Amino acid sequence: MIKTSLNIQKVAQSKVDQLDFDNIPFGKVFTDHMYVADYKDGEWGEFRIEAFGHLPVHPANIAWHYGQSIFEGMKATKSKDGIPMLFRPEMHSKRINRSAERLCMPPFPKDAFVEGVYELVKLEQNWIPKAEGSALYLRPFMIAMDEFIGVQVSKTYKFIIFCCPVGPYYSKPLKLKAETKYIRAAEGGVGYAKAAGNYAGSLFPTELAKQEGFDQVLWLDAKEFKYCQEVGTMNIFFVIGDTIVTPSTDKGTILEGITKDSLLHLLRAKGHKVEERMISIDEVVAASKDGSLKEIFGAGTAAVVANVEKVGYRDHTINLDIDSYKISPWLKDTINGIRSCRIEDEHGWTVKVV
Ligand SMILES: *Cc1c(COP(=O)(O)O)cnc(C)c1O
Repeated sequence: MIKTSLNIQKVAQSKVDQLDFDNIPFGKVFTDHMYVADYKDGEWGEFRIEAFGHLPVHPANIAWHYGQSIFEGMKATKSKDGIPMLFRPEMHSKRINRSAERLCMPPFPKDAFVEGVYELVKLEQNWIPKAEGSALYLRPFMIAMDEFIGVQVSKTYKFIIFCCPVGPYYSKPLKLKAETKYIRAAEGGVGYAKAAGNYAGSLFPTELAKQEGFDQVLWLDAKEFKYCQEVGTMNIFFVIGDTIVTPSTDKGTILEGITKDSLLHLLRAKGHKVEERMISIDEVVAASKDGSLKEIFGAGTAAVVANVEKVGYRDHTINLDIDSYKISPWLKDTINGIRSCRIEDEHGWTVKVV
């Protein structure tokens, strides 16, 4: 790991004593420090860890008006012996740079990214909840910083990582609406990037789905409203007969989840039949009718897996018996077990912070 000239300014007094570890509200508690780097004159510099706090931002900030803004989401956990651990940090570094390229933003060097999360987690390790399934959620992100009105590529950027402790994430069983009017991502678009605008665009259709009694939208493709894409901030999995199917990401319309990638590795290593391919909503409806549809679940960093109990598609309703699910609970237990060292990490995914 290459070291940048990382400048660490510690706060005088940590706020960690004020946290009730048994009742952590999701996404609302922030730790003492954040990692910051600035991009100007064509390079990244001023790598530092400083007190967490507000940023002074110019009203004409380009990110606010034209959306050059991307992010990541990852977790640090503690082993049962209390050692802090990262999960696949290099994958997150690769992904933020794929997002950066698509939005004409500069790549953030991989070594600086890994050093940033590593040193920040080392400093904030008292904030990592110990209970299995809980974690320190890390939010690396990059925003344009030019002060300019007009659509153009920013010349200055900020890269920041901050942390939120999160409790064991319980996701209630989801009711999904297969969306047949609005889209999330089209071929050639920015669907594969973790770009802020993708989430803004999803809000309105999701609110409409909620008014109809659903929790989330199951996005279908933009051409035919036929092929399943993903859900919210999760990739989607279907268990049909003895085969586990997840939509292929090769058309650039689906965010390539690191949880999804990890689950596919676990499933293949166990000898399960796995297919990454286009899957139409009609195939899912047909499998539901003939009884071969066993499970549907979403996969993402926050929840690991979230079971789906219902899918509405036009005038069809697919109901699922989540109590009979076998694959999804096994996957969740395995990922959480690897993240707490209860289960051996055979894939070399965890990085110990020592
Ligand atoms: C972040 C995200 C995912 C899941 O990615 P993970 O790396 O598994 O957390 C899936 N879909 C979308 C749209 C996302 O933003």
